[in-house]
Amino acid sequence: MTELPATTTRKLGLVIDLDTCVGCHACVISCKGWNTENYGAPLSDQDPYGAEPSGTFLNRVHSYEVTPDSGTAQLVHFPKSCLHCEDAPCVTVCPTGASYKRVEDGIVLVNESDCIGCGLCAWACPYGARELDEAEGVMKKCTLCVDRIYNDNLPEEDRVPACVRTCPAGARHFGDFADPESAVSKLAAERGGLELMPEQGTRPVNRYLPPRPKDRLGGIDLLAPLLAPVAEEPSGFFAWLDKTLDRI
Ligand code: SF4
Ligand code: SF4
Ligand code: SF4
Repeated sequence: MTELPATTTRKLGLVIDLDTCVGCHACVISCKGWNTENYGAPLSDQDPYGAEPSGTFLNRVHSYEVTPDSGTAQLVHFPKSCLHCEDAPCVTVCPTGASYKRVEDGIVLVNESDCIGCGLCAWACPYGARELDEAEGVMKKCTLCVDRIYNDNLPEEDRVPACVRTCPAGARHFGDFADPESAVSKLAAERGGLELMPEQGTRPVNRYLPPRPKDRLGGIDLLAPLLAPVAEEPSGFFAWLDKTLDRI
């Protein structure tokens, strides 16, 4: 059993806007790129160009079609990575102390040299946010790009998680939820930011902004004029053209 800190000085995390995410997967690719080349063991792939490719990712985007009681169906793209829970069961279940939550900023990390690949943390995480790297035999998870956000070698505008820096839709935001005046705290408060599965009691730090309902058109069917049946007998100019062509 590994202990969690009673409290953390900061609560760094992400706000993900489900209203503006377009499911482009740019965050998935930039996450894989950064985390394969930098902190810890690379994120391996198995049979990447074969019939059944698989691999390790710290961030995945799932897409769902949602049909409301009234109105049109809506496609919701749902990016998912570790939520850096305050009451993280993946940490308390770890038998070696490899999984831990940092006191200074609340980031949940894995010390890979102490990880024995037992998979207990993946079993304990209710969000499926941990992946065992098949080639390396160690547990991987979102690091909140800890090696970018404090990295003095990077230009200041790059000292945010790779997924946040990359998202072309501006759907991902990074900051400190312990500060009620931070941009992420205000955004979550203004837009009704949601915890994922609060009934699990994990107190995730990340927040999701719910998708707004699509504009209703008041019963007007925009496609109706285009779908109207075509007259079997041409009239007007087309009738003249038809007759002219018949004579040729
Ligand atoms: S989302 Fe899962 S892996 Fe991340 S801190 Fe919570 S329980 Fe642990
Ligand atoms: S914060 Fe970093 S490690 Fe986490 S999902 Fe984003 S890019 Fe991946
Ligand atoms: S990069 Fe942004 S818009 Fe694209 S899938 Fe990720 S969160 Fe959504």
